[in-house]
Amino acid sequence: VYNFSAGPSTLPTAVLEKARDELLDWGGTGMSVMEMSHRSKAYVGIAEQAEADFRALLAVPADYKVLFLPGGATGQFAAIPMNLLRGKTKTCYVNTGIWSEKAIAEAKLYSEVLIAASSKDNQHTAIPARADWKLDAEAAYLHYTSNETIGGVEFHSVPDSEGLPLVCDMSSDILSRPVDVAQYALIYAGAQKNMGPAGIAIVVVREDVLGQTLPFTPSIFDYKKQAENGSMLNTPPTYNWYLLGLVLEWLKEQGGLAAIEALNTRKADKLYAAIDNSPFYSNPVDPACRSRMNVPFRIANTDLEKTFLAEAKAAGLVNLEGHRSVGGFRASIYNAMPEAGVDALVDFMAGFEKQHG
Ligand code: PLP
Repeated sequence: VYNFSAGPSTLPTAVLEKARDELLDWGGTGMSVMEMSHRSKAYVGIAEQAEADFRALLAVPADYKVLFLPGGATGQFAAIPMNLLRGKTKTCYVNTGIWSEKAIAEAKLYSEVLIAASSKDNQHTAIPARADWKLDAEAAYLHYTSNETIGGVEFHSVPDSEGLPLVCDMSSDILSRPVDVAQYALIYAGAQKNMGPAGIAIVVVREDVLGQTLPFTPSIFDYKKQAENGSMLNTPPTYNWYLLGLVLEWLKEQGGLAAIEALNTRKADKLYAAIDNSPFYSNPVDPACRSRMNVPFRIANTDLEKTFLAEAKAAGLVNLEGHRSVGGFRASIYNAMPEAGVDALVDFMAGFEKQHG
């Protein structure tokens, strides 16, 4: 089947096959990676290789720490103000959808949140023009969500933060394209869309913003302490870290981020063209900020939605339901979705329209 789930999402078949082959005996150790001590030489090698591959793929500069943490992206919603307020009381957030709103709600527990810009008035279908944003020079940082997984809205350039440390939730588009890490103070992402299975998040943070963590911060959410302990302040999610490493290895074999971006652009262009060229399907998002990862779409006659999903499933195209909060359909076409999967969906949509349009 082709699995269009938004997350946890499909993994490259080659990764699952390698994990299967190594399940009982990793590298002649006679042990599964799951059974290894996180302090063992074999496991530390696996963990360090994953970090090295991540750094190489994203060209992470030397003055940034790369942390592998439990708690998902949601854990970081809280950890970010705890670590980055640094004596300040205000933070700036851009609201482009449901995930921005969740990050904002959590930040409000620790700071006075100023909404620099919001697309709420247009139901999160267009990112407000940068010229209309209002930033506060006293804020500790500016936070935005590079890809709204539910709304299907993606930034295609890095916003100017007027000198404020820039923080970005890249959970659903990290590693889908090259990024200039140096423009950010902190980037974070849950793994379960483009990087691996759920249960682990990556935080990329510039060293100079660390070290002034709020005193009540739990140690496992203290980025400085985690950095000092190689992300092993406690027992990390070892198997997920290993699987994440296999995904990174696969990504390198695909030619890295420039190659995967070209493929992702082609896949997304095909799907949006199928939607735009048909009177039967629609997507509400401003073409300037449409997501290349999550493509929500609708049909005018909502009575047909159940039939669409059932017939798609019978054709091997699964998990096309829109998020429960918005309805309709959503095709998530992350790195691991082969182009053939998008072609199959486009063909199915045309056939369905012919039959029911
Ligand atoms: N941010 C974005 C953009 C997401 O899509 C998600 C989805 O899972 C999250 C944050 C929350 O991640 P987690 O479930 O890992 O906490």
